Amino acid sequence: MKFNTKTIHGGQSLDTSYNAVMPPIYQTSTYAQSSPGNHKGYEYSRTHNPTRTALERSFASIENANYGLAFASGLAAIDAIIKLLKPGDEIISTNDLYGGTYRLFTKIFSTYGIKFHFAGMHDIISIEKLINKNTRLIWAETPTNPMLNIIDIVALSTIAKKHNILLAVDNTFATPYLQRPIDLGADIVMHSATKYLGGHSDVVLGAIMLNDKELADKLYFIQNASGAICGPQDSFLVLRGIKTLHVRMQRHCENTKKIADFLNANARVDHVYWPGFDFHKNHDIANKQMDDYGGMLSFKVKDNNNGDVFRILERLKIFTLAESLGGVESLCCHPASMTHASIPREEREKSGLSDSLIRLSVGIEDSDDLIQDLRQAIN
Ligand SMILES: *Cc1c(COP(=O)(O)O)cnc(C)c1O
Repeated sequence: MKFNTKTIHGGQSLDTSYNAVMPPIYQTSTYAQSSPGNHKGYEYSRTHNPTRTALERSFASIENANYGLAFASGLAAIDAIIKLLKPGDEIISTNDLYGGTYRLFTKIFSTYGIKFHFAGMHDIISIEKLINKNTRLIWAETPTNPMLNIIDIVALSTIAKKHNILLAVDNTFATPYLQRPIDLGADIVMHSATKYLGGHSDVVLGAIMLNDKELADKLYFIQNASGAICGPQDSFLVLRGIKTLHVRMQRHCENTKKIADFLNANARVDHVYWPGFDFHKNHDIANKQMDDYGGMLSFKVKDNNNGDVFRILERLKIFTLAESLGGVESLCCHPASMTHASIPREEREKSGLSDSLIRLSVGIEDSDDLIQDLRQAIN
């Protein structure tokens, strides 16, 4: 089955009760048993729920994985993955990580005795130098947020395999429409389905996809034991979102290219970060591992005196000033004071995330209107 068919049918089977074309929302906590232990595969909704199962099968299908798991949020999914480790274990990750992931790693898991190293992941040699006998996991994100850095998944998976450690990739920004990390050698894929998979800014949910049965069993155990599951209504919304993922992503990519070109030609704009430009760092790796360049871009405004950046953000009318990304509507944000405020300034500026940076999540509105909105706000 090809990707554009998988988004709609992948892993799905017809409802057995009334042949409903969409899986019903099984709004139930428990299931009747005819005699103790005799049931139809469902006992209690923390453990399993048929609507969640339908979503989990779709997750596995779109990432070319054997197993899919759904969680209450992207961070709950990451939390479950890190619980595969134990005190003394070490993780290597990127220094321009999603802010919430950085907070979970440094403020929660480091107090449980897990050690984290943060490094620039474009430099594979320096990553390999950080590996020691305690290293269990490499945690990568590509394209990164908000600098749109591209990390070579095949190169990372090669060193991960060589040292017998796991590679997990947060594929939230790219989505499997553009990039399939398991095919590139990753062991675990994670998503904030709150973003493109859901696609309509109306639900918070997380996903894990993987091939290895033993690891999947451990994660199902953690999912049930820790209990950070998503409800049936939210599972339904994300399943519905995935059905249009391919058409939405196509338009996100088209609009973003036009906006990147517009901003790049604007005299008030200092630099545009978008993996489609041939001057973008690691553009060649993006070409190798992605099918297009996605719906996210960031740009720096020249001479950010007198709070020019804040004024631009206040003046935008179609772009809504808000955190999050990946919905049908265009959003803008100021990473330094919003999404990345929990990262210390020195750490932030090391990765180029200055106060003059604006991040756009380009929606699927008409690109003429979006460009006109940016023009009036910037000029
Ligand atoms: C939003 C996001 C997360 C966290 O997901 P939630 O659903 O908000 O918990 C993790 N990684 C990336 C790249 C994100 O954009």
